[in-house]
Amino acid sequence: MTDSLVFTHTTLAARVHFGSGLAARHVAAEVEGLGARRVMLITTKSRAAPAGIARDLPVALSWTDVVQHVPVAKAEEARRAAAEADIDLIVAVGGGSTTGLAKAVALTSGIPIVAVPTTYAGSEATDVWGLTDEAGKTTGSDPRVLPVAIVYDAALTVSLPVPLSVASGLNAIAHCVDSLWAPRADPINAGLATEGIRALASGLRSIHADPLSTEGRQNALLGTYLAAVAFASAGSGLHHKVCHVLGGAFGLPHAETHATVLPYVTAFNTPSAPDAERRLADAFGADTGLDGLGALRLDIDAPVALRDYGLAEADVPRAAELILPAVPPSNPRPVTRGDLERLLEAAWAGTPPETL
Ligand code: NAD
Repeated sequence: MTDSLVFTHTTLAARVHFGSGLAARHVAAEVEGLGARRVMLITTKSRAAPAGIARDLPVALSWTDVVQHVPVAKAEEARRAAAEADIDLIVAVGGGSTTGLAKAVALTSGIPIVAVPTTYAGSEATDVWGLTDEAGKTTGSDPRVLPVAIVYDAALTVSLPVPLSVASGLNAIAHCVDSLWAPRADPINAGLATEGIRALASGLRSIHADPLSTEGRQNALLGTYLAAVAFASAGSGLHHKVCHVLGGAFGLPHAETHATVLPYVTAFNTPSAPDAERRLADAFGADTGLDGLGALRLDIDAPVALRDYGLAEADVPRAAELILPAVPPSNPRPVTRGDLERLLEAAWAGTPPETL
């Protein structure tokens, strides 16, 4: 970010409801307020909680065929079913994959979405969609996929296992960190990002100590929203470009990949980004951003190596080749193919990021 206060900032509009144990009430109010008569409820088979949410809704179609990174064929099936059932509102209860499928349907139909997130992925507060096919992952932004309302309910997240909570929360922290040097970084999204880091760091430490902690889960959700708004406004920086290729072309799991790669991108960029570094150190309450992130990661048993999540060492050169053309020109430090190979090699092995 430059010192000059000249920028253009876009804030995406959505109604945000917050309240532990209040999801059913908030969703019902949205359905009534929007005048919806035929709801498509999208959720995953493993989730029991939506039963309470669905009870008083005019559900015309229940959909549970949710797959991470939204394969095009799965999106097409859901789109056809929504059209046949004459759906006028989608209620999506689940993680980023569930929201992602809802977005795929909204992208071609314009059907509005009410999102009820149950992880910390943050997709509910962005206008970014993603679809995958044999060629990899394609993303884009479109106002039709931005949920009209978001219902955050910490009670729906207590069932998220601690390792997944940790990985997902670090995915949200990655939104915050990358927002500080992404193409449209500005002081507004930097403010949201640093407050997001504070809420997430505190929330994740509480969840790690006590997974049933409502306070921890609420802080994590609050941080999730701040992180997602910062990310939606700032765009994808180097970190998201790296993870996009690892998820889309190599099938790595989304949250764990973000959680593992983040310290390496932070170590690579912060020496060339003094304003971001100052903000990160302050938000983590540490001498440096990397120290603060490292201390949090130790406290919550964060994932450490990409080799544990399906990346083969032999894939590193190909991954670097795919990432290089996507690196934002605004990245604070120039990036070569050799840099990306070193970064990925270190993240693959889980070596200390300071050695980059
Ligand atoms: P996910 O939605 O795939 O969920 C991971 C697992 O957790 C699933 O098995 C799910 O059933 C389970 N789960 C979800 N909530 C639970 C709960 N409360 N209790 C118990 N189990 C629960 O994973 P994710 O990390 O939330 O989302 C990843 C996807 O979201 C990726 O496809 C990614 O590209 C996308 N995403 C998109 C954006 C965007 O802005 N478009 C942002 C972030 C993530």
